[in-house]
Amino acid sequence: MTFSDLNLNTSLLKAINDQGYTTPTPVQAQAIPYILEGRDMLAGAQTGTGKTAGFTLPLLQILSDKKTSKPHRKIRALILTPTRELAAQVGESVKLYGKYLPLKSAVIFGGVGITPQITMLRNGIDILIATPGRLLDHIGQGTVDLSGVEVFVLDEADRMLDMGFIRDIRRVISILPKGRQNLMFSATYSDEIKTLANTLLHTPAEVEVARRNTSSELVKQSVILVDCKRKSALLGELISKNKWEQVLVFTRTKHGANKLSEYFQKIGITAAAIHGNKSQSARTKALDDFKKRTIRVLVATDIAARGIDIDALPHVVNFELPNIAEDYVHRIGRTGRAGCEGEALSLVCVDEADYLKGIEKLINKKLDSRIIEGYEPDPSIKAEPIQRGRGGGSGGNRGGSGGGNRSSKPAQKREGGRHESSRRDSSRRY
Ligand code: AMP
Repeated sequence: MTFSDLNLNTSLLKAINDQGYTTPTPVQAQAIPYILEGRDMLAGAQTGTGKTAGFTLPLLQILSDKKTSKPHRKIRALILTPTRELAAQVGESVKLYGKYLPLKSAVIFGGVGITPQITMLRNGIDILIATPGRLLDHIGQGTVDLSGVEVFVLDEADRMLDMGFIRDIRRVISILPKGRQNLMFSATYSDEIKTLANTLLHTPAEVEVARRNTSSELVKQSVILVDCKRKSALLGELISKNKWEQVLVFTRTKHGANKLSEYFQKIGITAAAIHGNKSQSARTKALDDFKKRTIRVLVATDIAARGIDIDALPHVVNFELPNIAEDYVHRIGRTGRAGCEGEALSLVCVDEADYLKGIEKLINKKLDSRIIEGYEPDPSIKAEPIQRGRGGGSGGNRGGSGGGNRSSKPAQKREGGRHESSRRDSSRRY
């Protein structure tokens, strides 16, 4: 199948061609026809599958085909995303694919000044990409008019719920005009997601694509068993010896991300950390530097890294395993994208054995594990529960990312969330 088979207009085909895409990905091939028919849709697809183009391309076509009779430019499409990074990336995609169309788009999120956003909104746009919090600020101030919305996209709905945005989403939905088209994307289906889909969508078409990291052979996954306190030294050595040039490293806590980034800088490996306590400009700069390869290592927490889209990212390292098994799949989804091979390495200490089991159960696969000479785990170290704030590296008192930290938060709580979701609670079974 080619993109022309999907009945996309010549402006879009030209933009797709500029990107060098030749074949639609499975989610694009399935979703684009339904969306062009004007149907509501529920799509099970996560980042890395090409889902952004899957909804952006038909959305742009719908808006450019249907001439609006309204005298003033009104927002005709609203895309909600859970994080600022994802909003920015979706915004870039809209600009990229819509570059030959006369449609205007804008991205609004928190952490940056609101006044330029108000000016942008006042000048008139067709497509708005937003995170829930800042959108509600604009709604509260009366600086955004959503009465002309024809298409509503809820991206990464499961992550939105994880982050505690359910009430915000419902408030936004309640003020959208009736009779619009709704598209909902989610990587996982919990009961909460199904309830939300039932209230939002009308006789939706359902599209499901394989979770690429459970089926993809492109990501080589492996585990190194190592003591928590020796993880930083080992990772520094692996990066230097193997000359890895672009490594995305995950820690469980913001504090851990900072410590590890500082450690790398100390040993001469350029690095930066991104997490929810960093300003938006610091996060954008770190991500840009990493993409441009000005820095070799980007240390991130799960929420900050959500949706990060880096072409052909070769290495993802779990410095600490996530306490939610699904996050492992999201994390390693940063590599092995769009046909490029990638490697996902997890450094696992004795405290994390249960997390590893949970992950292997979720992905239905035993991960290869090995021990590195000189970094053999000390058999006299007994496992300590991470939930009680001990062990596990950056957040625990074993200080995997350089020294102890007794003031860390309990492992079950993490940044960005307004409340703990039921999915998170269910992860405790591991
Ligand atoms: P997404 O799942 O939307 O985050 O997209 C993942 C990556 O796939 C992005 O880097 C896109 O630029 C890329 N991509 C999207 N569609 C295609 C396609 N049809 N062929 C090749 N790459 C694509």
